[in-house]
This record gives sequence, structure tokens and C-alpha cells, in this order.
Amino acid sequence: MIEIIDLHKQYGDNLVLKGVDLSIKPGEVVTIIGSSGSGKSTLLRCINLLEEPTSGDIKFKGDSILAENYSLSTLRTHLGMVFQHFNLFENLDVLQNCVVGQVQVLKRNPKEAHQIALANLEKVGLADFAHAQPKQLSGGQKQRVAIARALSMNPDCLLFDEPTSALDPEMVGEVLKIMRELADEGLTMVIVTHEMIFARDVSDRVIFMNQGVVAEEGTPEEIFNHPKEERTKEFLKRVL
Ligand code: ATP
Ligand code: MG
Repeated sequence: MIEIIDLHKQYGDNLVLKGVDLSIKPGEVVTIIGSSGSGKSTLLRCINLLEEPTSGDIKFKGDSILAENYSLSTLRTHLGMVFQHFNLFENLDVLQNCVVGQVQVLKRNPKEAHQIALANLEKVGLADFAHAQPKQLSGGQKQRVAIARALSMNPDCLLFDEPTSALDPEMVGEVLKIMRELADEGLTMVIVTHEMIFARDVSDRVIFMNQGVVAEEGTPEEIFNHPKEERTKEFLKRVL
């Protein structure tokens, strides 16, 4: 589904991604772990072109997204993103947050878009909040709306950048629960997270990033129980 080839990203003289190679298969749940500053967010932001890579290539469903004629709106339609700070449209109610992209980008008729939005709000347990304003919601509820909004676009893959790290501890579980359900349904997901238990339980594959490269990757069992690289061992000792 996604193929990342020798990806480099540089900000000024700060080389942040130093040759990342990674491929994500359809239906896979891949979590990315690693220290602060190792380039995890930068990698995700390159995958949906919120950042422009310096060199290397990224293919989405076989096509290079860096090709001049590749359509950014096609990419954004098929590849959803859930952010740490939710990024809801604060001036729209919960339902409209889930409708607007469908109507404006996918050109769905509003009635169908409403039905799809409601079904996804139902899925995240927030159908009763369809007409609430984002500011009336808790952090966990906002993040569930953000997930419903992303799902309403019927993405082929969802990217998550630390979806629970801005939440109060008691709200982390409700968001992780929904992500587990999506994983069980076979949605392709790439998740940057500091939730190690979640990563261990849900991932098909765990990627450990260190200083701008993939330092080690493997099954949760391989990474958490039998890490090979010294850098992985040190990181896990600090966070587990
Ligand atoms: P964290 O776990 O803290 O979120 P991260 O692994 O996501 O860390 P990135 O946010 O990708 O790390 O940042 C990697 C490096 O790139 C850092 O040194 C950061 O300062 C730098 N960086 C990230 N975004 C920018 C930007 N827009 N402009 C300049 N430097 C940036
Ligand atoms: Mg980050």
C-alpha cells in the first residue's frame, strides 16, 4: 500500500530523516516507536505530503506521490490522518466536521454524507453528540470525532501521530479501544505512539526509529521481547 524508499528530509542543516526504507502492506497495522526527535512525525508528515521530502521516493498504491502530476487531493482522500491535537473545525458542529470533507472533496451528496457521518459517529460512540460543538467535548471525545471524520472519507489507510498523548490518562483507553476495533476490522494503519502496551498488542509490525533511520523492525514479540539492537534495548529500558 505504501512504499518508502531511501527517504531523506532536511530542515536547514538539520538532517532529520537519513534514508528511511519502509513498506506497509494492505491490512497491516504498523506502529512506530522511538525517542523524541527521532523523526517519527516528520516521516508521517512526509507520507501525506504535509512536508516535502528532500530526496527519496514514496509510493502509494504503486504510484510515486512525488511525481509532478500526482494529485494531492487524491492522496489526501485515500490516506487519512489523525493528529495529536485533534485539529477539528471549531466553528462546525460534530456532524458537520464529519460531513464537510465528504461533500467538498469527495463530492458526495449531502444526504448520503450525513448518513455516513452518523454511522461513523455511532461507531465511535458519539451519535448523541452529533450537534454538539467541539468546545463542549472532552479530549477523548474530540479525538473520537477526529477518527469518525477520518473514517467518513473511506480511506485506504489511516495515519495516527500520537493520538492519545494530549489526553488525560482516563481518556486514553476510550480512544485506544476504537483503534483496536479498527485494527480488528483490517484497516491499514500507521501509528506513531508512546503507548507500548497498545503497540505490543495491536501491531502486526513495530518500527523502532532512532536518529532519522529505522534502527530495527519486527513483530511485537521480536521488538519487545527479543530486541537485537543495543539502541532498541536502551530505548525500551527507558520506556517500559
Ligand atoms: P516526538 O516524539 O517528540 O514527537 P518525533 O520523533 O516526532 O519526536 P520530529 O517531530 O519528526 O520527531 O522531529 C525530528 C527533528 O526535526 C527534530 O529535531 C525537530 O526539531 C526537527 N523538525 C521537525 N519539524 C520541523 C520543522 N517544521 N522545521 C524545522 N525543524 C523541524
Ligand atoms: Mg512527533
